[in-house]
Amino acid sequence: MKKALIVIDYTVDFVAEKGALTCGASGQQIEKAILHHIHEFIDQNELVIFACDLHEENDTFHPETKLFPPHNIRNTKGRELYNAVQTLYQEIKHLPTVVWMDKTRYSSFAGTNLEQLLRERKINDVFLTGVCTDICVLHTAIDAYNKGYNLFVFEDSVASFNQTGHNWALEHFKHTLGATIL
Ligand code: ZN
Repeated sequence: MKKALIVIDYTVDFVAEKGALTCGASGQQIEKAILHHIHEFIDQNELVIFACDLHEENDTFHPETKLFPPHNIRNTKGRELYNAVQTLYQEIKHLPTVVWMDKTRYSSFAGTNLEQLLRERKINDVFLTGVCTDICVLHTAIDAYNKGYNLFVFEDSVASFNQTGHNWALEHFKHTLGATIL
């Protein structure tokens, strides 16, 4: 096990047509590519982590409450993975190389055991997919950079509701975080 694929926030609320905070079509268009990369990592016995936003209803203390409509609320359909990714997850979730990771901030490293999990497995290569390129993928990428991981981003598997932000983030990954854009 040498590398980890992180699938970030690819949930109903962030991707589906009627999701609470959806990227819409741009998010739906990357579904096939994400499925492909998950299969690739599973076949190579590499780690696949589903890092998904978790919020509590009426959480007045959470900073996002002021910024976004309620989304990814615990025990709601909105927090399930989107479409065929959810189906695939159900098939592979029993594997020791598949991990579900709740997160409550933009970065997958914030308040989670992601770093311990990667260090225990001596994994230095982190591959990012999911949404939104310029929010949760970006913040995860910055933390990965600061922690010294080798960073890879699958361009066909990240998306945002904001095309300008998406393009900016890809440039930032490459030129500022030293990421390899695949
Ligand atoms: Zn959130």
